[in-house]
Amino acid sequence: MHVLLVEDDNRLAAALTAALARLGHQVVRAGRADDALRLKDGADFVLLDLGLPDMDGLEALRRLRRASAVPVIVVTARSEERDVLRGLRGGADDYLVKPFRTAELIARMEAVLRRGTRPLTAPGPVVVAAGGVRIDLATRRLEVDGRPVTLTRREFDVLALLAREPGVVRSREEILDEVWGDLLLSASRSLDVHIAGIRAKTGCPGLVETLRGTGYRLGTGECTSGS
Ligand code: CA
Repeated sequence: MHVLLVEDDNRLAAALTAALARLGHQVVRAGRADDALRLKDGADFVLLDLGLPDMDGLEALRRLRRASAVPVIVVTARSEERDVLRGLRGGADDYLVKPFRTAELIARMEAVLRRGTRPLTAPGPVVVAAGGVRIDLATRRLEVDGRPVTLTRREFDVLALLAREPGVVRSREEILDEVWGDLLLSASRSLDVHIAGIRAKTGCPGLVETLRGTGYRLGTGECTSGS
């Protein structure tokens, strides 16, 4: 089995690599989340440390899950129930709290594999309503107070990303990464222009809420009246 080991601690990574290799597994090790996301495609199993130098492990898990159904066990030094629950809700199949015995890890991996693979994505809502705004994610139709509104492809993509999980805040980087496929655009004004376009065309300035320094989320859909 090809195991992707995402762990920034060299000693722990070396010990786990040796233990897994003894059982006949091929281990690819990534010390950073961005390397892990690059290397994920060949993996049959992912062991993901939540404390990584470049990205929060839960965020890495979320990005991994958007593109892959590979079994994941999160490994964490944090034993707080909240983090563990967030990990499991974020798509991990199981978790281990450091320090752990290798035998325990192997047993958990086998248990996850016995349970079988998960569906790639949980079915989310198809039509999202916010105030008088109705966003149909399947047909890509948008209505404000019953009247159709046309957005550009990218404007709709941005709105759909926010609507898929109402209430969840998406960072600029995340939106640029997902919609434009390019994190490096984060300095550009493209996103601001598209957000402004969504607000203007719908006549609902509150449809996309800006959280200064954090990102954007789907707002209440309050619109200017009498248009
Ligand atoms: Ca770590």
